[in-house]
Amino acid sequence: MELIELIKQFARKQYLVVSHYPRDHIYIAGALCGLILVLLVLPLGGDTDGDNGRTEIVLDINLSPELAQPVDTEQKQPDALALSDFVITPHAKSQIEVQPIVENVTLWRNIEVKSGDNLSAIFSKVGLSDQDLFRVLNSSDEAKVLNQVYPGYQLDFLIPPEGELEQLRLLKSPLEGFLFTLNNNNYDVESILNFPQLRPTFKVGTIADSLFMAGQREQIPAITIMEMANIFGGVIDFILDPRAGDDFSILYDEKYLDGEFIGHGDILATQYTNQGKTFTAVRYINEEGEAGYYNAEGESMRKAFLRSPLDVFRISSNFNPSRRHPILNTIRAHKGTDYAAPRGTPIRATSDGQVTRASRNGSFGNLVIVKHAGGFETKYAHLSKYANGVKKGKRVRQGDIIGYVGTTGSATGPHLHYEFLMGGVHQNPRTIIDKLPKAESIDPAEMDSFRTQTTDLLKRFSELNRTALITLNQPSAD
Ligand SMILES: [Zn+2]
Repeated sequence: MELIELIKQFARKQYLVVSHYPRDHIYIAGALCGLILVLLVLPLGGDTDGDNGRTEIVLDINLSPELAQPVDTEQKQPDALALSDFVITPHAKSQIEVQPIVENVTLWRNIEVKSGDNLSAIFSKVGLSDQDLFRVLNSSDEAKVLNQVYPGYQLDFLIPPEGELEQLRLLKSPLEGFLFTLNNNNYDVESILNFPQLRPTFKVGTIADSLFMAGQREQIPAITIMEMANIFGGVIDFILDPRAGDDFSILYDEKYLDGEFIGHGDILATQYTNQGKTFTAVRYINEEGEAGYYNAEGESMRKAFLRSPLDVFRISSNFNPSRRHPILNTIRAHKGTDYAAPRGTPIRATSDGQVTRASRNGSFGNLVIVKHAGGFETKYAHLSKYANGVKKGKRVRQGDIIGYVGTTGSATGPHLHYEFLMGGVHQNPRTIIDKLPKAESIDPAEMDSFRTQTTDLLKRFSELNRTALITLNQPSAD
């Protein structure tokens, strides 16, 4: 309830959409879009190298048992060297690409499968013949997994000096693969399943230019920033809402295997303060085992409608939403919201529904109309093209790409004209939120489980946020 109240207050501050004169607005919008384009290509003020005020806290929190995952590896061959016994190439932890796990060990040869490689060539690289390959492949039905080897996989060969392939390890990822072990002229196959260690990591950022740049400055993986934007996609329009001075924090997992960084895990909790209004989301795995994000009261962050029909991260890494506001805000006499964006920017359906139109319509150009439950309708105009398969009758899910930004119809610059109707009447999509269906909440019967899983996490998260604020506000040494 508190969240809805916050959104209402927030929505009242918006002033975008007004009433409508279709012919007039188009010319104004078009001219403005041209200007916007010029602004878009101007160099950005963001500094990707600066690390002032960066706060990174790697911490060890006691997660509830539901969140904790088993640690360390299993199913290692007793005869084989443990992965941790090998020399590991050190590399930046932010690097996602996994280096060969095994190096500088005479008996093992490690080959990373490259595009265009084939098994025969790989075998010959390590001094094995086609005959050796056939022997492995034909040793059992399970061995046929070797026929599905893709670029990025790793093949590790254990060949003692006598020259016979003793073990072969196929790793799809550091976490998953198969081990072939010579056994009486045949190869036994067993699967390898490693569980990463999860290390919660906490980062904070402040918007100076764009969310993307803020993430880069704080060395937060782009995928994690995108995930945060998705989590808040029902309450914040990441194209129009962010302002300089907004701040956010993310508590997320990093995955390690035997001390080596192997990738980024899920967001555990995140917070975004938009123009003074703070939204907090925590991850909860429900009794059906599905993960979702909720506020502290157990209300789902997934809303009936996305706040923005554009995916800010598909636009480009240099996209700077804040530059466009003043222009959009001056558009008058208009019954939709115009989102200036480069041609080809993907457009998402803001809610589940059915396409009732995907065709040309006068000054709207290529127009998609989606009908939603509860008498709602959304319109997307001036598209350069429709997404594959989008036509009348097609069912779409929230977030599905339905088309791409263009200039068809009466638009002189590429932009999306977005309309939101309720019972056939135009509504301001920026202030409609209090009329929308209420977000789903945790079932009262499940609230105990929700609290068990999230209370400590949220408490810890709030402590981290406090600490980060203190750190940020302290005068820096330089
Ligand atoms: Zn418009």
